[in-house]
Amino acid sequence: MIHLDNYRAIQASLKAYRAQLVAVSKTKPVEAIQQFYDLGHRVFGENRVQELSSKYATLPKDIRWHMIGSLQRNKVKVIAPFIDLIHSVDSFRLLKEINKQAINNDRVINCLLQFHIAEEQTKAGLTLEEAEVMLESDAFGLLKNIAIKGVMGMATFTVNQNQVQQEFAQLKSIFDQLKQGYFSEDSQFEEISMGMSGDYEIALKEGSSLIRVGSKLFGTR
Ligand SMILES: *Cc1c(COP(=O)(O)O)cnc(C)c1O
Repeated sequence: MIHLDNYRAIQASLKAYRAQLVAVSKTKPVEAIQQFYDLGHRVFGENRVQELSSKYATLPKDIRWHMIGSLQRNKVKVIAPFIDLIHSVDSFRLLKEINKQAINNDRVINCLLQFHIAEEQTKAGLTLEEAEVMLESDAFGLLKNIAIKGVMGMATFTVNQNQVQQEFAQLKSIFDQLKQGYFSEDSQFEEISMGMSGDYEIALKEGSSLIRVGSKLFGTR
């Protein structure tokens, strides 16, 4: 059972912001995705390579697929031909592999740098210092088949709204520092991917441009 009422309410609330909805369809059947597609929705997020590639094969080709989960380097080649945006770039080695597979497919792959903003150590992500070392390196300048579109982060899973708000503010601050330091001439660096079913309203207030909402649209997993 998909929640069309929630979909309409979220889309309506996004009009007040410069933000887009990524409908997170992980674990959900293609029929449910097709229902949102039939309403005109085109941007869907998945977190597993196998599931993503089999859904890609089945569903209409104008869907823009976003990879939002942790990505192993040896699986990049599977999604490289078609992926629209990879949210989860959490190492330089992964970014180099994405660039290599993008070259093999004669395309440019859009990426977000994922930052660690939560208190849980299990959540992935770069530190600002790690990102700066990467962005300042000569090797980074040689990567011509990736486009860094912005940043992504996940807040701590907690009922403490104040903590979540502070973590989103931290990601916005990281975005601003990178924009100023490395991407001031690059109009493509503009995305801040933050906010899920439980915290997207806070994320929007803190400057999110991409909210990743699953269970509120597709039901609990
Ligand atoms: C599953 C997932 C989401 C969506 O979570 P919901 O709470 O169901 O909205 C968002 N981002 C990432 C990285 C996810 O893995």
